[in-house]
Amino acid sequence: MANLMEKNAKMRELVEKLNYYSYSYYSLDNPVISDAEYDKLYDELVALENEIGIVLPNSPTLRVGDEILKGFEKHTHIKKLYSLNKVNSYDELYNWCNDIEKQFGKQEYTLSYKYDGLSIAVTYENGKFVCAATRGNGSVGEDVSKQVLTIKTVPLTIPFKGKLEVRGEAMMRKSVLKAYNESANEPLKNERNAVAGAIRTLDLSITRSRNIDLFFYDVLYIEGKTFKTQSEAHNFLIENGFFVGDYFKVLNGYEELKKSVEEIDKSKLDLDILIDGAVIYVNSCQVQEDLGYTIKYPKWGIAFKFEAVERTSEVKNIVWQVGRTGKITPIAEIDPIELAGATVKRATLNNYGDILRKGVKLHSRVFVRRSNEVIPEILRVAEYLDNSEDIKKPVVCPSCGAELIEIGANLFCPNKEFCTEQITDKLTHFCSRNAMNIEGLNEKTLKLLHNDVGVNELADLYKLTYSDFEDLEGFKDKKISNILDGIEKSKNVNFANFIYALGINGVGEKTAKDLAKRFATLNDLKNAKIEDLVSINDIGEVIAKSIYDYFNSNYGLKNLNDLLNAGIKINYTNVVNYNENFKGKNVVLTGTLQNYTRDEAKTLLESFGANVVSSVSKNTDLVIAGESAGSKLTKANALNVKVINEDEFQNLIK
Ligand SMILES: [Zn+2]
Repeated sequence: MANLMEKNAKMRELVEKLNYYSYSYYSLDNPVISDAEYDKLYDELVALENEIGIVLPNSPTLRVGDEILKGFEKHTHIKKLYSLNKVNSYDELYNWCNDIEKQFGKQEYTLSYKYDGLSIAVTYENGKFVCAATRGNGSVGEDVSKQVLTIKTVPLTIPFKGKLEVRGEAMMRKSVLKAYNESANEPLKNERNAVAGAIRTLDLSITRSRNIDLFFYDVLYIEGKTFKTQSEAHNFLIENGFFVGDYFKVLNGYEELKKSVEEIDKSKLDLDILIDGAVIYVNSCQVQEDLGYTIKYPKWGIAFKFEAVERTSEVKNIVWQVGRTGKITPIAEIDPIELAGATVKRATLNNYGDILRKGVKLHSRVFVRRSNEVIPEILRVAEYLDNSEDIKKPVVCPSCGAELIEIGANLFCPNKEFCTEQITDKLTHFCSRNAMNIEGLNEKTLKLLHNDVGVNELADLYKLTYSDFEDLEGFKDKKISNILDGIEKSKNVNFANFIYALGINGVGEKTAKDLAKRFATLNDLKNAKIEDLVSINDIGEVIAKSIYDYFNSNYGLKNLNDLLNAGIKINYTNVVNYNENFKGKNVVLTGTLQNYTRDEAKTLLESFGANVVSSVSKNTDLVIAGESAGSKLTKANALNVKVINEDEFQNLIK
């Protein structure tokens, strides 16, 4: 039995390890161990804390708790949280810069995103988290310390020891909201509402379930320290372990500023977070001080507001589309509107359940939002009009007339064999650039091949011959041989592209890539259990079940076998395929690698032809030992098995 001192040391070690892992995971977006491994260490720590009766102030176990609070306490901010004055055009921005530079000469400016979330001030003292509060009216907010403590990017302890108040924005990432809504009973309207609801709730289990992030951007108050520039303050935040997001620039004068603001405007829809503008500060703290404040705003900062990505319009008609999985999607035709630089005429309503949930009717005014999705989305109803009427639930498939079946919120056409629109969409997806990438097989051609040649299943494409095209209109010698070449070439496909090409419900490009990373081979993926799938970050229960069902259905398995029999060869990596250092060798991984998770390293090694085995024996050829390697390393040394570290491993794979 270990004595108390040893247990204390062990507890300290666990706290440090877990904090490092969660920092890598949440702040650096670079997980270094699997969730299951993390959970195991976490449980070990909880057990130790209970046994010893001590919880260290920076213990990760302090972050979680599902208690219901009684109410919000008022919190008076050390320094007022100002909001920023806004400009909407480059002319106004020019004037703002010009006014300052007339007085103080040419200036440097800092540029960052204007986050569209919930503003939070966090206080530290003696290097420890003290409290967190909402902005409120700027002077007095609500104490939301417990809620904010559930956010894993908020440090519990920091190196700086003086009193400190920092400001950040609580945000829910778009991908997180999407994943949340896939399995939620009550879907959330948008990221902003979701985050406000998560912080301003007394039920901490709600806060925790929403996976909020806090992006820090300002030092409001700091004891015994001054900064010369805003960028110095920004670096201070980074040095003290605050998550600051990935956009911060120092720019010289208006012209440089304008160029960068335009770039943000262009890329804003592709970001995983909601931003509604850019924030510009004068970089020099001396000039900031000299400029001072109006009653409402600092004179040294400004928000450049982008054109809205949300706007209202009237629903004129609903068209029901049949997708590759047979899913019926309602598309609303709306009065055309200009939205973030494009004319929008159609917006999706996801499924029939979505219509009911949002209460959307024909001839109702609705909020439409453009995001990075291909087709804009209807968010909610703005108002009903006199002629508003309920949208009828379709009974039969608009493409083939088969009776629809209802699964959850979705309607499906069950006619997998003969539904033209469903089959064409399935084939089009399969041939698309990020799937099998078969050139020349676009939607139009595939519809012809389905209707006139009888191409129904994915594998049928690989049975096509020259004569199948000869009778089709507009197909000449060269075009036909190009298509046949493309089909032949597609037989060599990367694992991720192949998974995506199968068109499994809910499996987009990102999920396909995640699956290809997690599972070494198609067989491993086929045999995956639901819990294996759910353990992957970003894969919720709904998608996990859909993947599982595909690989455990007669339809999915037949489809897969036919494709493999047609000669498809899957590449399990696009990095290297042959490496004599590993080919045929029995390799054991132990300890924590800095650049790979265990699974990534395993996949990589297998792609070189290695057998990755779990325990060391005299048959082991090589042990790759990361940090804090334990008994496997000892055993390898005892058996005289060759051991290499991560650097040596990386040299061998170069
Ligand atoms: Zn149909």
